[in-house]
Amino acid sequence: MAIKKLKASVISKISAGEVVERPASVVKELLENSVDASAQSVGIDILGSGLDQIKVSDDGSGIPTSEVELVFARHATSKLNSEADLESIRTLGFRGEALASIAAVSRVELVTRFSAEDTGVRLQLVDGILKDRKSVGVPPGTVIQVDNLFYNVPPRLKFLKSESTERSLAKRVVSRYAMAYPHIRFSFVSDNRKGFRTYGNGNLLDVITSVYGSDVAENMVEISDVEQDGIVVSGLVSSPELSRSNRQEITFFINGRHIYDAQLNFAIMRAYHTMLMTGRYPIAVISLVIPPSKLDVNVHPTKSEVRFVDKNIVFQAVEKAVRRTLLDYVSKSTMIKSASVGETLSQASSWSELDTSDRKHDFSVAEDQLINSRLSGMEMPVLRVIGQTNAAFIIAEGPDGVYMIDQHAAHERILYEEYVDAAKMDELRSQMLLQALTVQLAAEDSETLSNNLDKLTTLGFDIEYFGNDSFIVRAVPAIVDSSDIEEVLMSIVKYRSDDLYGVPEWSEDQIIKRVCRLVAVRAGKVLSYDEQVDLLRNLETCKSPGTCPHGRPTMIYFSLGSIRNQFGR
Ligand code: ADP
Ligand code: MG
Repeated sequence: MAIKKLKASVISKISAGEVVERPASVVKELLENSVDASAQSVGIDILGSGLDQIKVSDDGSGIPTSEVELVFARHATSKLNSEADLESIRTLGFRGEALASIAAVSRVELVTRFSAEDTGVRLQLVDGILKDRKSVGVPPGTVIQVDNLFYNVPPRLKFLKSESTERSLAKRVVSRYAMAYPHIRFSFVSDNRKGFRTYGNGNLLDVITSVYGSDVAENMVEISDVEQDGIVVSGLVSSPELSRSNRQEITFFINGRHIYDAQLNFAIMRAYHTMLMTGRYPIAVISLVIPPSKLDVNVHPTKSEVRFVDKNIVFQAVEKAVRRTLLDYVSKSTMIKSASVGETLSQASSWSELDTSDRKHDFSVAEDQLINSRLSGMEMPVLRVIGQTNAAFIIAEGPDGVYMIDQHAAHERILYEEYVDAAKMDELRSQMLLQALTVQLAAEDSETLSNNLDKLTTLGFDIEYFGNDSFIVRAVPAIVDSSDIEEVLMSIVKYRSDDLYGVPEWSEDQIIKRVCRLVAVRAGKVLSYDEQVDLLRNLETCKSPGTCPHGRPTMIYFSLGSIRNQFGR
């Protein structure tokens, strides 16, 4: 094959592919341009998945008549003059690629009027080539309409998802920008039906109400601008009562630009440590202001990743700000919310009123959540044991009601805190086995275990590789009963770290949790009265008695008020 230079039309389609992957990327680029043009109001209209039509209108600065053709030239931008400017980028755009790329793979109509001129201009392009140019009378601002996206690059269509998925991706782009710019009014309309609109009043909580609804907004907690090492963290995070089954609602903005960064997501998860059940994720909208000199945004054609000069500083600033906000929230809500449980109850005038289907459901869910949040942050009152039920729960009486304690979860919490404290103080006790134990593992398990032997040693195990995927166990932590050793080991080995966090090895914390889960007294075990009392006394000394290490509640609480109320007294 002979080497030939590519035709310009081919080159432009190839590079368009880097910027414009799907309808949502067009929406993103057009929105960013409107924001850069200081628009106060931006409207987004799409038809179908957005392939049919995407229209973005703004009331921003508009484009001077003399420059309007240039916007479709590749690497033409009004936002960057010299190389030095690259060090301090403050606009969302700067590569001058978006409009050229979009125009190469669709039919585009641009109508714009520069605010300092009297008339506007309309351009029509097909395949990136100017077909028509007219003067028009329009208000200041810019409207860009993109029709038949990818009509001339059919292979692209194969990479797209269903119409509804593409539409919701586009919608999510708009909602993210709406959250990043609460001072700008956004409206999203799809197939002529209102998606949502925001008011541009600068209030992030109002934006969240528009985007997620008031149920979510009511459960969001504000991070008041926390500054650390020159990094300002602000935004809203969901209270521990509200969570989702995936991490898609964790949103970061750095200097107004939406960014995806797995490590920042991880910082958030660390901040929620033990407050959420495993497999649950918060809703978070977090804005970071970082001096541009500490960043390199010019890493990725869609600019959705950044490079930090010092990643750790950023990571810590986020974790700390969020953690502090949550702890504060939990300790405050302990008082406020326990009062409101009583109120909700006394407002219902009779049991039958509570019992009406919908109401009852709302009520019990809400109540559960309130109790969880109350308990997860509280110090435990001294309880008097009444007895055990179902060989699984301990019933106890406190100063203001009745408590039901999950014996397994409670014991897990106790063991976990003891273990962690002992590890910190270097006081872990391990026990030598009278007779060393040999375990044979499957090849992949053997590899995992070999990779983590060091950590297990620090945690009180003495295990040695013996060849052929077998191991010799000489000692285990003192809390492990000798009859459970194999089971404990298998459970540790079978644990696959959450690959989404990108942690190839286990953390010590993960190992400790595994061990405690296995060693803790099971549901089904009958406990003597003294054992029950012991368990509660030990739980009282815990720092977080209200939840097990995985975030599940250790106890549920029935206030005297609610009990009286349910008896109609
Ligand atoms: P970039 O945003 O990287 O500069 P684009 O291709 O997105 O590149 O846009 C090229 C230029 O077109 C911008 O620099 C800006 O001057 C102008 N422009 C695009 N959209 C708008 C808009 N909505 N309002 C005003 N000017 C715009
Ligand atoms: Mg741009």
